[in-house]
Amino acid sequence: MPTESAFLFAGLLFLAAALGYLFAWFGERDRDDEPRAAPVSRDYLKGLHYLVDEDADRALEVFARMAESDEDTLEIHFALGSLFRKRGEVDRAIRIHQNVMARPGLDRLQKGQAQLALAEDYLSAGLLDRAEKLYSQLRDYPEFRERALKRLLGILERTQDWEAAIKTHEELARLTDRRDEVGRLAHYYCELAEQALAAADWPRARQLLRKAAAARPRSVRSLLVRADLAREAGDWRDARKLYRRAADEAPWLISEILPRVARLYQDRDDADGFSRWLDRLLAAHPDAGDDVALAVIADEAVAVPEAMAQLSRFIAADPILAMLVDAASLAQRPADERTAALQRIRGALARLRARGVAYRCRNCGYGSLSLQWQCPGCRQWESLRPEFRLGPDAGG
Ligand SMILES: [Zn+2]
Repeated sequence: MPTESAFLFAGLLFLAAALGYLFAWFGERDRDDEPRAAPVSRDYLKGLHYLVDEDADRALEVFARMAESDEDTLEIHFALGSLFRKRGEVDRAIRIHQNVMARPGLDRLQKGQAQLALAEDYLSAGLLDRAEKLYSQLRDYPEFRERALKRLLGILERTQDWEAAIKTHEELARLTDRRDEVGRLAHYYCELAEQALAAADWPRARQLLRKAAAARPRSVRSLLVRADLAREAGDWRDARKLYRRAADEAPWLISEILPRVARLYQDRDDADGFSRWLDRLLAAHPDAGDDVALAVIADEAVAVPEAMAQLSRFIAADPILAMLVDAASLAQRPADERTAALQRIRGALARLRARGVAYRCRNCGYGSLSLQWQCPGCRQWESLRPEFRLGPDAGG
């Protein structure tokens, strides 16, 4: 559905095109004794009238007829194509812009404008490869280069072509002096480093992580991948420290980090070591109890008493959960019974969680069961955060 502002924008486009057209019409009449055919301008006014009346269908009908009958009104075609695209009628927009591109005698700028319009149509239609090709060609137009590179970057992120995204990002950075606020470049290097890590190519992973750190020194993601790399490479001391640094840097990642640290200690058969690590973490981050409880629910490896105590507290603090599991009488039971009951509850909550969402985008509300560094809904980076509400996803 087109929004009101899209409609207004399209209306303004038409108004601008109309003024340009009327100006040209009257302007030419001044120079030329032969007046141009008046019906076109009457149609224009009629079309505008419908637009003002918010009768977009009839306005489109009039403008489409004009575009067919008057070969000279290039701007009408652009405005019409753009209006169709904004209304979601991308096929018609594509047809119009393809026709414009096929016209003989276009000057360089008109050709670029038509190419840009067609690229936007393809992007709206989800025809990413076609859009990518056109935006790539538009790099040759200084007028459209920045916009084309930005769109190209968006496409490369969607197709996860990280090598090309790095090159395009560098090209864009040379063109504008705007700072990389969200650390895109570091994310691109981290994506590649994660691939190298999965392929057990540690030297390449290290090299990519150095580049990520150079692009964004405080990138929490590169800290996390560095920790994973240290764990994979058997350097457990470094891994332990790096996980802690990542947790300090971004406490919201604690539910993601804890299962990794639990396994690190589990591999060394050192449950007490994990308890001490967790104690120190909670002393530094007293508000992280819910994150610890979520980690317990998400992964049974996080089962030391300190962690289970956080799960108990989490249940008691949630009115519905507390009622369901009768938290008050659970607290009265002997320790071993309580532990066994908590383990059963943990299993049930894990199944409940698997049916809901574990992360939610702060920008668009997109819900996801796993952590994603770029929101698939709105394409923002680092916008997902843990969701503490359990159960089926009710959206928003
Ligand atoms: Zn989002």
